[in-house]
Amino acid sequence: MTDVVIAGSGPTGLTLACDLARRGAAVRVIEQRRAPHRESRGKGLDAASLQVLEPLGIAERMAATGSGVITLRKYFDGAHVRDTEVVGGLLIGQWRVEEVLRERLSEWGVNVEYGARLTGIDQNGSGLSAHLADGAVVRGRYLAGCDGGHSTVRELLGIPFGGSTAEEEVMALGDVTAPGLSREFWHQWFSSDGGGVLMCPIPGTEIFQFQASRELDEQGEPLPPSLESFQRLFDRHARVPGIRLGQATWLSAWRSNVRMASRLREGRVLLAGDAAHVHPIAGGLGMNTGIRDAVALGRALAAALGGPAGDRFLDTYESERLPVAAALLEDTAERMERVLAAVREPGRGTEAGLDRPAAD
Ligand SMILES: Cc1cc2nc3c(=O)[nH]c(=O)nc-3n(C[C@H](O)[C@H](O)[C@H](O)COP(=O)(O)OP(=O)(O)OC[C@H]3O[C@@H](n4cnc5c(N)ncnc54)[C@H](O)[C@@H]3O)c2cc1C
Repeated sequence: MTDVVIAGSGPTGLTLACDLARRGAAVRVIEQRRAPHRESRGKGLDAASLQVLEPLGIAERMAATGSGVITLRKYFDGAHVRDTEVVGGLLIGQWRVEEVLRERLSEWGVNVEYGARLTGIDQNGSGLSAHLADGAVVRGRYLAGCDGGHSTVRELLGIPFGGSTAEEEVMALGDVTAPGLSREFWHQWFSSDGGGVLMCPIPGTEIFQFQASRELDEQGEPLPPSLESFQRLFDRHARVPGIRLGQATWLSAWRSNVRMASRLREGRVLLAGDAAHVHPIAGGLGMNTGIRDAVALGRALAAALGGPAGDRFLDTYESERLPVAAALLEDTAERMERVLAAVREPGRGTEAGLDRPAAD
C-alpha cells in the first residue's frame, strides 16, 4: 500500500508529489493522459509560488527556462501606445513547469503512471482503493484529487461545485509561431471595436501564446478555434502585415467559470487545485493557487501520515484553504472586470489585473 495516491499530474498533483516525496512519503501519481502535454496554459509563476517551491530545489531549473522580466507592449487600433515592464515572477510555459516537476520527482524514484484513469474510490478506516478504468486497483492510505476542473474525485465524493459558468466561450487561446514578430514583448493589441489579440513569447521556445476575442460567423456564433481563424483575428487587430502564424501546437477556447467545492475533505480523500476552485484567468492565479494548495496539503498529509494525532491537520488544510478559494473567486472576478474596463483605453493592458500597478 502506498501512502498517498495522487490523481492528476498537472502542476498541483506534481507539486504535491514532490513535496511528499522529499518528506520521505511513498506516493503514486496516476494520470489519465497517455503522455505529457505541451500547452503553455498558465504561463507564469508568481513570487509567492517561487518561494513555496524553494524547498523542492528546482528554482534554478525553472529560472534557466523562464524570464524574470516581461515588457507588455500595448497598441490601440494598430498604433503602439505604451510599454509596461512587469517584474517579480517568472514567465514560463505551464508544460515546462510540469516537466521540471516531473524531472525532480523522478530523482526521488517516482514516475507518473500514464494511461491510468481513476473511475472509483472505496475507503474505510485504515485505507482506500482507487479503481482505474482498466480494472487495476491502487491502494493507499490517502488520496489527493488534483484532477482539474472536471474532477472525477470531486464527482465520486458528491461534493457540490457551486458557482457560475459563462454561457459562451469568450476567448480563443492557443500556441503558435509567428516568424518576424519581436520576442522582446508581450504584444497586446486592442481595437476600438472592443476586440483584441495578445501574443506572449513563451521563453525557451519559438512559440507565442495567442489569446484573442472570438471570431463570430454571420449568425453571431463563435467559430471553432483554428490557425486560419487565429490569422484572421491577428490581421484584424494587430494590423502587422507579413506575419504568418504557424505550427499551431494548441488550439482552444476559454469560457469563464467561477466555482468552488463546498468542502475539500471526505475521510481519506482531499481536493486541491482546479478540482477545488476555478475562476477567471486575470492575474494568472490558477496554476499558482494550485501550487500553494499542494504545498499546504503536503504539510497536512505528512502530519497525518505521522500518526492519528496528525489527522486534525487535514481538517486544518480544509479550514485554511476554503476561505482562500472563496477570496480567490471574488478577487479574480474583480481583476477580470478591471482588465476588461482597462483595455478599452489606449495604453492599458493585462497589467490592470495584477496586484500592484506595474512600472511603465
Ligand atoms: C484551456 C486552458 C487555458 C488556461 N489558461 C490559463 C492562463 O492563461 N493563466 C493561468 O494562470 N491559468 C490558466 N489556466 C488554468 C491553469 O492551467 C490551471 O489553473 C492549472 O492547470 C491547474 O492545475 P491542476 O494541476 O489543478 O489541474 P490540471 O492542470 O487541469 O491537471 C489535472 C490533471 O488531472 C488529469 N485527470 C483528470 N481526470 C483524471 C482521472 N479521472 N484520472 C486520472 N487523471 C485525471 C488530467 O488529465 C490533468 O493532467 C488554463 C486552463 C485551461 C484548461
